[in-house]
This record gives sequence, structure tokens and C-alpha cells, in this order.
Amino acid sequence: MAQFKTFNAQLARSVALSEFTKHLEFEVRGTDHVGFVPGQWLSVKTDTPEGEEMTRAYSIASPPTENGSFAFCLNRVQDGFMSNYLCNLEEGAEIAFQGPFGSFILHPPPRDSVFIATGTGIAPFRSMLQWMLAEDDRHQGRQLWLLFGARREQDLYYHAEFDQLAANHDNFHFLPTLSRAGDEWKGLRGYVQQHLGEIVGMRTDMHAYICGLAKMVKANRELLKTLGWDRTAIRYERYD
Ligand SMILES: Cc1cc2nc3c(=O)[nH]c(=O)nc-3n(C[C@H](O)[C@H](O)[C@H](O)COP(=O)(O)OP(=O)(O)OC[C@H]3O[C@@H](n4cnc5c(N)ncnc54)[C@H](O)[C@@H]3O)c2cc1C
Repeated sequence: MAQFKTFNAQLARSVALSEFTKHLEFEVRGTDHVGFVPGQWLSVKTDTPEGEEMTRAYSIASPPTENGSFAFCLNRVQDGFMSNYLCNLEEGAEIAFQGPFGSFILHPPPRDSVFIATGTGIAPFRSMLQWMLAEDDRHQGRQLWLLFGARREQDLYYHAEFDQLAANHDNFHFLPTLSRAGDEWKGLRGYVQQHLGEIVGMRTDMHAYICGLAKMVKANRELLKTLGWDRTAIRYERYD
């Protein structure tokens, strides 16, 4: 098996996105540069107190930068080792990782696209959409929809950022949907797959990107296939 280089990064900023979720920003140590493409993930490595080596994948939640810094959007999994280890890190702490890996990246040439996420599945789309919308020639003439599902309004990570991106770009449509919305919520309700059909209509000439837990990914892939989509137009990343 190929040996991959191990890099070190320092936690520069840790921000709570909700009770169980954090946005962590890292700076790569030394002169190393991690060149990644939006949508890719890193493999974080550490040892448990029992000395067992653990590795887990985390999508990069930020667009590529000159200095190679990157962010994660991390959910604490109950009784999970790595997610709690990362969420408990203090600013200044170092992690070891390998990568980037993964082929969940934007298809060239761009088409009108729908991005479908639940929970921390939003991470690769924050990277992709910030990258695409930063330069006109990466998105001009294309319509982009972000369908983001969460239970409650406080679980819509990066809500204000995506609202701002939508306000700045007529061709970017941010559609958050809540499965347990309170009466005051004015937006969409229910699961992401309940709204996908309204976005794509009869079209089969778009791209779809889906990220989150396997059950949600399956429901959306099956719906698109029922609507006549070619499977090559659907890219997905499963977290479990
Ligand atoms: C390509 C890829 C990218 C990923 N990117 C992210 C990311 O950006 N952010 C993120 O938070 N996670 C991401 N994950 C999930 C992550 O790799 C870990 O699986 C997760 O953090 C749990 O690891 P753990 O060691 O804490 O728990 P584990 O000890 O591995 O699991 C504890 C228990 O939780 C269940 N479980 C495992 N993963 C999940 C999950 N994601 N949600 C709910 N239950 C789970 C397991 O079945 C097990 O019963 C990604 C996974 C993949 C494959």
C-alpha cells in the first residue's frame, strides 16, 4: 500500500456552531503546503489513550488558500473517539493528518447544479460554493441551488454566510429546510428529498452533489434516478 506523507497543523480558531458542532480552522505547520480541490477530505490520525492508532476522514470546509490553511465542520458523535478528540482541542493544539483524498469534486464543465446536504454534510459545499462564487468565470451563466436540511434553525450551520452569498449572487439560491421547525420559521419544512423535485422539475441536464449520512444520500439518489437522471450526473459522499 502507498505510504502517504503525514502533515501537522495547528488549531488557529475554534468556533461553536451549535451545542454539538464546531468550526475548526487549522494552519499547516512548517513549509508544507496541502494543495486540495474543493470537496476533498483529510485523514486525521491520533492515538487513543490505549495506544491504538485512529484515523477518520473529514471534509475540508473551506476553499483553497495561498497558505494552505483549512477548516473542518465537526459534529460530536456520541461515544465517538475522533470527533470528540477534535472538538475538545484547545486553540494552539496540533493535529497530524494525511491527504488530501477523494473524488467528490466539481465536474467540469459546470452545469446548473443542486447541492444537497444535511448536518455537517455542508462542509464540502462551503468549500465548493465559496470557491465557485469567488470568481465570475467559475459560475457565470449557471444556476446553483443549495438545499440544506437540519432539524432546527440553530442547526443550520453557516446560515448567515450562505444568506450573504445568495444576496450577492442572483444565480445562487440558498434553500434551508427544517424537519422540526418552530411556528416562527418562514422557510421550507421537511426533509431535503421533499424539495428536490421542485428544484429539478423535469430537467435531467444538471449536476447533483449530495453529502451526509447514507440514508439521506440514498433517498436523494433514488429520487433523481426515478426522475430519469443518469447516475454519472450525481456525485455523492457518505459520512457513515
Ligand atoms: C469522506 C468522509 C468525510 C467526512 N467528513 C466529515 C465532516 O466533515 N464532518 C463530520 O463531522 N464528520 C465527517 N465524517 C465522519 C467522520 O469520519 C467520523 O465517522 C465521525 O466523526 C465519527 O468518528 P468517531 O471516531 O467520533 O466515532 P466512531 O467511534 O467512529 O463511531 C461511534 C458511533 O457513531 C456512529 N457514527 C459514525 N459516524 C457517524 C456520523 N458521522 N454521524 C452519526 N453517527 C456516526 C458509528 O456507527 C458508531 O456507532 C466523514 C466521513 C467520511 C467517510
